[in-house]
Parts: sequence; structure tokens; C-alpha cells
Amino acid sequence: MAEYKCLNCGKVIPSSELNLKAKCPHCSNKILVKVRPKVVKKVIAR
Ligand SMILES: [Zn+2]
Repeated sequence: MAEYKCLNCGKVIPSSELNLKAKCPHCSNKILVKVRPKVVKKVIAR
């Protein structure tokens, strides 16, 4: 599931909580950035 972070208050909101409203439920800020899930990059060591 995707998560979004509010740039104003810094809270992370799951996309299910946002529904179709692209704004922060905490402070009504509309600037949200998508938070990438913790994915470990595979680096091939040589
Ligand atoms: Zn906020």
C-alpha cells in the first residue's frame, strides 16, 4: 500500500486514509509526497 507524507506537518498518511481527497487529514495541506516502501536496493558488488 502506498503512503503519503505531508510536507507541512510531516505526518504519514496511508493512501486508504486519503481516499480521493489529495490533502492531509491533519492540517488540510494539499502538498503530499509519496513515500516509497522500504525496498533494499540490490547492488551487485564486484
Ligand atoms: Zn499535514
